Amino acid sequence: MCGIFGISGHDSAAVLTHLGLYSLQHRGQESAGIIASDNGRGTSLRAMGMLGDAFSPEALKGLAGRTALGHTRYSTAGASTIENAQPSLVQFRGGHIGLAHNGNLTNATELRQALEGSGSIFSSTMDSEVIVHRLARAHSKQPERQLAEALQGIEGAYSLLVLINDTLLAARDPNGWRPLAMGTLNGATVFASETCALDIVGATYVRDVEPGEIIAVDATGIRTLQLERATPLHRCVFEHVYFARPDSRVFGGSVDGARRALGRQLAIEHPAPGADFVFAVPDSSNAAALGFSVQSGLPLEHALIRNHYVGRTFIQPTQQGRDAKVKVKYNPVREILAGKSVVMVDDSIVRGTTTRGLVALVRAAGAREVHMRVSSPPIIGPCWYGIDTPDKKELIAANMSIDQVAQHIGVDSLGYISLDGMLGAVPDGPTGFCDSCFSGNYPTAAPTIASKQRMG
Ligand code: AMP
Repeated sequence: MCGIFGISGHDSAAVLTHLGLYSLQHRGQESAGIIASDNGRGTSLRAMGMLGDAFSPEALKGLAGRTALGHTRYSTAGASTIENAQPSLVQFRGGHIGLAHNGNLTNATELRQALEGSGSIFSSTMDSEVIVHRLARAHSKQPERQLAEALQGIEGAYSLLVLINDTLLAARDPNGWRPLAMGTLNGATVFASETCALDIVGATYVRDVEPGEIIAVDATGIRTLQLERATPLHRCVFEHVYFARPDSRVFGGSVDGARRALGRQLAIEHPAPGADFVFAVPDSSNAAALGFSVQSGLPLEHALIRNHYVGRTFIQPTQQGRDAKVKVKYNPVREILAGKSVVMVDDSIVRGTTTRGLVALVRAAGAREVHMRVSSPPIIGPCWYGIDTPDKKELIAANMSIDQVAQHIGVDSLGYISLDGMLGAVPDGPTGFCDSCFSGNYPTAAPTIASKQRMG
């Protein structure tokens, strides 16, 4: 997964992009980058790691121009290396092209092979690079038409910010898998994966970039091009469940509102009568636990404390990194848990590694009974569209029954929200969402080889 941010028409474009990316850090912590464009001259900065470490204020000064775009990366296609950090910036016969991509293309292997067959040389292992090559080869004169031409035949998920010389382009795939919002700031146009990044720079939300839409912004104004739009849409429901920040609106709906509704629905489907209180696995489940508490009437407690100086457990690309971090990241509050029957709410169980570790911590702190409630259904398949869910063999619910999962993680009871319950709870549901990792219904053909293996 990744976060993207772009701005056109502002004297402090690069500085604001840097600021905006801070609010998208949760979408990717492996690398970050910013490019700016100044009268046809493009400059770029890319670095491994989180934003605070990645760029100095001096380095940002080198990024001149009224147009900029940036990216925070969490590798789903391509290894975690500086060559694969985005945005990419390349020179071509028509000037320069910059690109920041959120999502996963499902036919990137075939597209890449075709391009290599006709002489293209790739400088990264990312799926996104095929779009750059296709842009460079497109014949259309207008930047938005050039992008439309390049996107023809590309399948899978993309929310894109593209720079062609001084024109900033924003685009979303016809299925609308990944979010992309548009805002305005003192006459400048801003785009961001989530509205929390508009808030941090002081921009006002205008609307979402529509699925299948391309928006072009330059000194002459704003132009839009609406390409085909899928029916139904496949907006990623996991953005609401887990990925996005609760202070954001994604797909036009409040993430906080979605999570509270998920928690309420979970309490209806799987109440825990007799429990003393409910608590969240912070932070992504806070709102769901609140919803569970309101619906069930059980008090909400803070029984697990999260160390904020450690990144998201899962965002570590290797299993070793993930394991070591569970204990570093969470600590139970013994005084609250001792002797109690408790409901632990989390938004998802993926491998079960974190959950099992957490249940052990909660029991060691003295909890008498642990009832686990999960605000998404069992994950039975990998995501092909940009979330780094592992292969089926590592997905606990793909390999065990719910009772076996309960045993494995060591809880007294386990309840997952139903698929219909989840889809009915999110804003603008129940249709128009991608639920392939929960239902096994994938709207596209499988990527030829899992992208991480292929590219990494
Ligand atoms: P586990 O018990 O190892 O399956 O980990 C479950 C935890 O991972 C939950 O607390 C989720 O909030 C979190 N999680 C779920 N999906 C992801 C993801 N794609 N990236 C990062 N964390 C995730």
